[in-house]
Amino acid sequence: RAKEQGRNTFEFYTAEITDSVREQLAMEMDLRAALERNELTLHYQPQFDLSTMSVTGVEALLRWQHPKLGLLMPDRFVPVAEQTSLINALGAWVLQRACAQLRAWVDAGLEPIRMAINVSGRQVMYDHLVASVGGALEQYSLQDIAACVELELTESVLQTVEPSAEILNRLRSLGVRIAIDDFGVGYSSLGMLRHLPIDALKIDRSFIRNMPDDVNANAIVKAVISMAHALGLRVVAEGVETAVQLECLRELGCDDIQGFLLGIPMPAGEFQGLLQAAAAAPTHGQEAPP
Ligand code: C2E
Ligand code: MG
Ligand code: MG
Ligand code: MG
Repeated sequence: RAKEQGRNTFEFYTAEITDSVREQLAMEMDLRAALERNELTLHYQPQFDLSTMSVTGVEALLRWQHPKLGLLMPDRFVPVAEQTSLINALGAWVLQRACAQLRAWVDAGLEPIRMAINVSGRQVMYDHLVASVGGALEQYSLQDIAACVELELTESVLQTVEPSAEILNRLRSLGVRIAIDDFGVGYSSLGMLRHLPIDALKIDRSFIRNMPDDVNANAIVKAVISMAHALGLRVVAEGVETAVQLECLRELGCDDIQGFLLGIPMPAGEFQGLLQAAAAAPTHGQEAPP
């Protein structure tokens, strides 16, 4: 009887593992096809300069218009891609698409703005990243405004300082900027930042969410901002949802903010409309277009 039970348990586990592997494989194959079928798309969320409240940047966020499941958010499929080499093809697509969009907006007569592009850790460790960033800049003639392209990397990438610094330096020599995403939840020490060629920190949403009621969150945000400024880094707060949070961040001297309070991620056309409306609005009388 015990033997029988043991065998059943074994079979049960095997079936379960096989199921999740099968699901993973199915998702991976689906995603590979999605790349070819053009089902992926980028949405764009505005970033505002806190002192002028104008849009100075935008973050490109990946979406999958799945034929059966509808619009899928990146948390559903990016981790799957990250477990395989598919993340490199996916990342290359995102890079191309975002650069093409920046070029299209500039060609439409809009002031160049910062385009923040998420780069996964696996891409950074992949040899072709520097070449593919350089290639995208060249393909879309963005070399002169390469500083508008900001690559967002998460802290986990930077656990090994030396190889990271080398790659970041090579990226930087192309003229692009580097931001550390989700700052505060990873393991990078503040001291480590000193040794890395970084331009900006994005404070993780979890700290902003708890402002202003949680004194610890306030203290951390305050400390991160002053430390970043001391190191000459720009600070972006993500996940700003309330006017109170905005005011607190302003008081703390945060540079830029991003969040549902001011704008949700939207399709490219909608975002362009927002930029055009902002450009047409005469915020300063003398700067109104003729
Ligand atoms: P992230 O890079 O930290 O992006 C910010 C996420 O916060 C986005 O979620 C955005 O929609 C969300 N967000 C912005 N403001 C608010 C707010 O006020 N409240 C709340 N609750 N959320 C807000 P999204 O688009 O679902 O992306 C999730 C994550 O997926 C991203 O986090 C990023 O890590 C990853 N991701 C997105 N696009 C790409 C991509 O092209 N490549 C890679 N490798 N990862 C990507
Ligand atoms: Mg990001
Ligand atoms: Mg983030
Ligand atoms: Mg995140």
